Amino acid sequence: MAAQVDVVATRRAWAEVDLGAIRHNAGLLAALAAPASLCAVVKAGAYGHGSVAVARAALEGGASWLAVALVTEGETLRRHGIDAPVLLLSEPPVEAMDDVVALSLTPTLYTAQGVEAAAKAVAAAAAPPLAVHVKVDTGMHRVGASADGAVAVAKAVAERPELVFGGLWTHFAVADEPANPFTDEQCARFDAVVERLASLGLRPPLVHACNSAGALAMPGAHHDMVRCGIALYGVAPSPALAAVELVAGLRPALSLRARVSYVKKVPAGQAVSYGLRRPLAQAATVATVPVGYADGVPWRLGVTGGEVLIGGRRRPIAGSVTMDQILVDCGDDDRVLPGDEVVLIGRQGGEQVTAWDWATKVDTIAYEVLCGIGPRVPKIYG
Ligand SMILES: *Cc1c(COP(=O)(O)O)cnc(C)c1O
Repeated sequence: MAAQVDVVATRRAWAEVDLGAIRHNAGLLAALAAPASLCAVVKAGAYGHGSVAVARAALEGGASWLAVALVTEGETLRRHGIDAPVLLLSEPPVEAMDDVVALSLTPTLYTAQGVEAAAKAVAAAAAPPLAVHVKVDTGMHRVGASADGAVAVAKAVAERPELVFGGLWTHFAVADEPANPFTDEQCARFDAVVERLASLGLRPPLVHACNSAGALAMPGAHHDMVRCGIALYGVAPSPALAAVELVAGLRPALSLRARVSYVKKVPAGQAVSYGLRRPLAQAATVATVPVGYADGVPWRLGVTGGEVLIGGRRRPIAGSVTMDQILVDCGDDDRVLPGDEVVLIGRQGGEQVTAWDWATKVDTIAYEVLCGIGPRVPKIYG
């Protein structure tokens, strides 16, 4: 049999994930939140960074909780020996509750069926009482019980000997728009539920509301814990929040890099890539880079003026992004050679391309750019 293929050397494209940056960002966010705790949100493969390595680094940096979207994501953490508390951000399907119990995940609940299923799963496993968090919908209308519904669910949880009322939480819809008063409205609705439950003698140990944007912009809403995803990765939740001083202290953890695979001269007037969209004004050195939309480089970047760094200079993507490769216009630069490093996201020399640069060019958000960096891109941890 052939020796194992070197995935980075043969792939010539990779993502570098700086775990020191994750630890640093977790430390800053934990200090910002204190005395509240930090929950590191590592759903979707830690926003494309790799959930296991990021979870470990975040815990080392100061996070005490982890959060994921899916039971399978929690399972991945447990399988790698991570025993920190893991919050599931939506109510798991009834059929998943046995796994939730077996994996000691902390489910979020907001329906009577959810409470029933969780209690049954604990009883069936003869497991110790399971802490659960109850989610209140205060206006985003994605998941969660109404105020009345949440009180009923919390009471049902408190009545079940198999369950412990471990937390109450909500989620903000517009915390990334610091001037939008709706977040205050959500806070007021949430506080009212906290108080109603307190008057019934139900005060869970963890009350929480803030995502990254809330943690950064709403210090009065930290309660007992903040749930940070995007800020942990060193990326601002929105361009509006990039100006917050603390955001400037965060370090982007991910860079996307590749090597030039092929170089040729293309005469003036000829166009490159599918569609032959834009004829070159001048003869140019055109570099081929083996990374494309299947790896998370948005197709639209080829239309809207995406740039990459080679030799410390910004260079335009020439023509359509293809599935596996892009073409880069290096102008009259004859020094670009196969093997040269290309930075798609990250720093090279004095230049930098950020996930938000891409996002604004293709009319999306940095979250989608990061999550889009696909499994075909090997990750190198440093
Ligand atoms: C994804 C998510 C978060 C993290 O959001 P960021 O904006 O990345 O900090 C927090 N809470 C919930 C419920 C989420 O779904």
